[in-house]
Amino acid sequence: MARYTGPVCKLCRREGMKLFLKGSRCTSDKCAIERRNYPPGQHGRMRRRRPSDYSIQLREKQKVKRVYGVLERQFRKYFKEAARQRGITGEALLTSLERRLDNAVYRMGFGLSRPHARQLVKHGHVAVNGSRVDIPSYQVKQGDTVAVRDKSRNNTEIQLAVENARIGSPVGWIEADLDKLSGTVTRLPMREDIGMEIQEQLIVELYSK
Ligand code: SF4
Repeated sequence: MARYTGPVCKLCRREGMKLFLKGSRCTSDKCAIERRNYPPGQHGRMRRRRPSDYSIQLREKQKVKRVYGVLERQFRKYFKEAARQRGITGEALLTSLERRLDNAVYRMGFGLSRPHARQLVKHGHVAVNGSRVDIPSYQVKQGDTVAVRDKSRNNTEIQLAVENARIGSPVGWIEADLDKLSGTVTRLPMREDIGMEIQEQLIVELYSK
């Protein structure tokens, strides 16, 4: 699947919030949101008119796409699938994005950021239930074991990510063993596990027009 390859800090500035796409830089004072918290571009600093309902909904959708590194076509597929499920569509959308393998690798603490975790998966550093899986969108299931493969254990970036993860807070749906570079999906993620300021209902409204 294609991915966005442009400058990522611009994406955070466009959304007006940290999307944590650059690892340790995101928590340092080099973060572009700390330095220039206004939209990118020539008119970024101009005062804007009150946003329309459409633009608020659009921004919410773009924010979620950018956090999970998904482009429009694939995002629509996630939405269609969520709309088919029973229950609240917005929550189903977010939880299926949360179940992506690259996100699980990031949540377990083996990736510096979601884009880095995606790269680890793509480059074959990750195994699910003992078999190499190099598909970032792979949906993890309850009981799955996700691990860094033996040949990649000494990867310096993975080691750095693990050191950062030791001081981070654990995620409810995952049990990670940072010494063994392995983690288990103890249950499927729920809306409250996502912990980001997202109004998913706005995305549902946008796609339901
Ligand atoms: Fe976003 Fe991280 Fe860049 Fe800050 S450093 S603007 S959080 S990607």
